[in-house]
Amino acid sequence: MSWGVINLITPHIYSTLPLVLTRYEEDVLKSVSLKPGRERSILHRHPWVYSGAIAKVQGKPEQGETVAVKAFNGEFLAWGSYSPISQIRVRIWSWNNEEKITPEFMGDRLTKAIARRRFWIDSEVTNASRLIHAESDGLPGLIVDQYAGTLVVQYLSSGVEYWRETIADILMGITDAESIYERSDATVRKLEGLMPRIGVLRGPEPPDLIQIFERRLKFLVDVRNGHKTGFYIDQRENREKVMELAREKEVLDCFSYTGGFTIAALVGSAISVFSIDRSTDALRLASKNVMLNELPQDKIDWREGDVFQVLRELRDRDRRFDLIVMDPPKFAATSSQVERAARGYKDINLLAFKLLRPGGMLATFSCSGGISLEFFQKILVGAARDAGVDAQIVQYLRQGPDHPVALYFPEGAYLKGFVIQVY
Ligand code: SAH
Repeated sequence: MSWGVINLITPHIYSTLPLVLTRYEEDVLKSVSLKPGRERSILHRHPWVYSGAIAKVQGKPEQGETVAVKAFNGEFLAWGSYSPISQIRVRIWSWNNEEKITPEFMGDRLTKAIARRRFWIDSEVTNASRLIHAESDGLPGLIVDQYAGTLVVQYLSSGVEYWRETIADILMGITDAESIYERSDATVRKLEGLMPRIGVLRGPEPPDLIQIFERRLKFLVDVRNGHKTGFYIDQRENREKVMELAREKEVLDCFSYTGGFTIAALVGSAISVFSIDRSTDALRLASKNVMLNELPQDKIDWREGDVFQVLRELRDRDRRFDLIVMDPPKFAATSSQVERAARGYKDINLLAFKLLRPGGMLATFSCSGGISLEFFQKILVGAARDAGVDAQIVQYLRQGPDHPVALYFPEGAYLKGFVIQVY
């Protein structure tokens, strides 16, 4: 129906006009209707509608445009953003029929998410934190990390891409950020049919290296070339843990990147740290971070190489450690890679178990979304058994509180880790 039809309404039916208009509004709006029985997950407040659940798309929504999600019987379920290419065809904005998806809506979500962090993140303790954690903050696909006066954003879904300028303006208005830098170069954007995008979005170019602090620790962050948005903010609390555990220990830091755990261990009075990473640039920045923290370089053995090989070398040379940190990159980006990833996790953790002295500890992590905590634990059981060690889990480690997990979105809990002690 087009608005032109309204001209055909003759005066004598004016009394029924409000009703007619409501129907109009519904008809004009773009919507997706689900197949019978496929409304369950939406009723359970999970924010994704997969393409296979959709019976019909009405009104030709554009990429990222707001659609009403309806059950097969036409009942309203939620408002979401439409993504024509992605398997996740709609991501939910709101389950409230009354709510309008407007700039005010975006402002409200952003403001509230940032306000919630005030309780968890003390600006005296750190000036680096995650302000927006995507689905878990009701903003599917949006990541905003703060590094001192710079915000680094990732628009990873069609929905937030559609609202990109509005979101950037709001962020400038509600934070005291000087610049917003965009790092929308994560591979998931391809699945949404979006091109990578990197560069300044608001304000002046941020410095080449941004200095941040976490209590006693200081780091330089390269937001242009670094991993993700530049730094592993999600490991903040685990760096603290490693700092405590490292006292008077010989430490091995595998996949050390820019030295997050290496610096934490040294500040925590480790005897020595052996740090392995295959990236020259990461090791160069790690070395700068050691200087920034005024730590002795001679306590560190930097090794540029492949962790899988170097661990074997260390084993063959009978090297032993008291504390090993194992924080690899995401081995499984998609569910099809889970099996291979599991073999990788088992291999490195098995070697780590062999390199530990009795009483030694392994702080081991997986940030692969497709690998659950239970599955990761099973992999570690296999690794310990094959290494011939007896071991206990002494601590469970997770992502920090600025990376919350919405109760209805368990996928938000991607980082899991254990401290395992061998005996
Ligand atoms: N532990 C780090 C983050 C690790 S990110 C921190 O807390 O900051 C993953 C790192 O692993 C990257 O620096 C990457 O260069 C490195 N890497 C990936 N595969 C590797 C391999 N096979 N051997 C050595 N380093 C590897």
